Amino acid sequence: MRVQFWGTRGSIATPGPGTIRYGGNTSCVEVRSERGTLVIIDCGTGAHPLGQRFATPEANRVRGHILISHTHWDHIQGLPFFDPLFAAGNEWDIYGPKGLGRSLRDTLAGQMQYTYFPITLDQFESTIRYHDLMEGTFVIDDIRISARYLNHTALTLGYRLEVDGATLVYSSDHEPHSRTLAGGEGEITGQDLLHAEFISNADLLIHDAQYTADEYQSKVGWGHSTIEYVLKLARHARVKRIAFTHHDPLRDDDALDLLIEGARASLSRNGGAPLEVFAAAEGQTLEVKPSVADDTDRAAPDFHAMTPVAPALIERSVLLGLADPIMTALLSDAMRAEGLRIKLFADLNDARKLISKEPPSLAILEHDPARIDDGSCIGTLCLIDTRPRSLDPADVARLRDLSDLAVQELNGMNTPLRGH
Ligand SMILES: [Zn+2]
Ligand SMILES: [Zn+2]
Repeated sequence: MRVQFWGTRGSIATPGPGTIRYGGNTSCVEVRSERGTLVIIDCGTGAHPLGQRFATPEANRVRGHILISHTHWDHIQGLPFFDPLFAAGNEWDIYGPKGLGRSLRDTLAGQMQYTYFPITLDQFESTIRYHDLMEGTFVIDDIRISARYLNHTALTLGYRLEVDGATLVYSSDHEPHSRTLAGGEGEITGQDLLHAEFISNADLLIHDAQYTADEYQSKVGWGHSTIEYVLKLARHARVKRIAFTHHDPLRDDDALDLLIEGARASLSRNGGAPLEVFAAAEGQTLEVKPSVADDTDRAAPDFHAMTPVAPALIERSVLLGLADPIMTALLSDAMRAEGLRIKLFADLNDARKLISKEPPSLAILEHDPARIDDGSCIGTLCLIDTRPRSLDPADVARLRDLSDLAVQELNGMNTPLRGH
């Protein structure tokens, strides 16, 4: 598989002369299998330049998948600027951890509320399906993906991608469970051992390494790893290559060079299996190929997520067509509060186009308002159907009959009531 880094900075985008080599954009990694399956991991500000790459005529009709580790700004802020989401004809599946009481879609929509951004999530023109994820294993085309919860200040998933015989693990943001291990010392046990299994035998491990062990003393509970911790776990887990990422915004290029030198020196002092380490740099591309284990006896066991999961599709939309703008506003508000996506249309042709492009879960279409003989409107007839269908003239005639029948009934009822 081919990997390209588009954003390697943690916390906040940090452009400037000090970050030219490793980059200032926040988290975003592009992965492509040999067969061409496109997976983007995280959509920090690095997603903006990545999106520009698809802005060529021949790149029309992009089909891709986006794995979101968590919804902190530095992992989603590029999403509203990711142009391929706005192009009609493109198709995207967006995956992220299932929140407590709020869907991934609603959380992503939150950063695009009108107060913060002029365009809402509903205005993405491409076909988008949102998937709420829990821990477990699932498949995207030719890629097997395992998701595991990380230790962070928000609900966060790490992703292990297996394809073409090679394994890539993305683990950001994550804090060591043990403070001793954060210093690179002590036994690997408990949850840290499970994390080591998750990264085991990775041909490339992309891991949060925002702090050094010294710096960590004042950052306990901030949700990030130390270089020492990552090295210790990676050695134990027989990882082949580590790309440190989520670089601290206060760390300039020269300071990162020094950290990498130090990490390499510490590895050579300790001996053991060869382990390549580097700091992920914006723009850098890598081929991740399966490596032959040279010492299989001592190899850590491969990670196998026990739970197969079908990512829950949480995209639900309602097609709403009412004549009364106040009723439209009220219904829209009520349904948006339920987490539903509302699509409005101008006329029946418009509705047909919307239905064929992306079938809604529910369509509420107002028929001609029914009126009694004196011309007063007695309400509206709504069509509520969970399956989109196009109405032929015979259907429309039947609906008119139904409406007329209702009017007749009401006229009949009304006559004796009139004057009371
Ligand atoms: Zn982060
Ligand atoms: Zn975070």
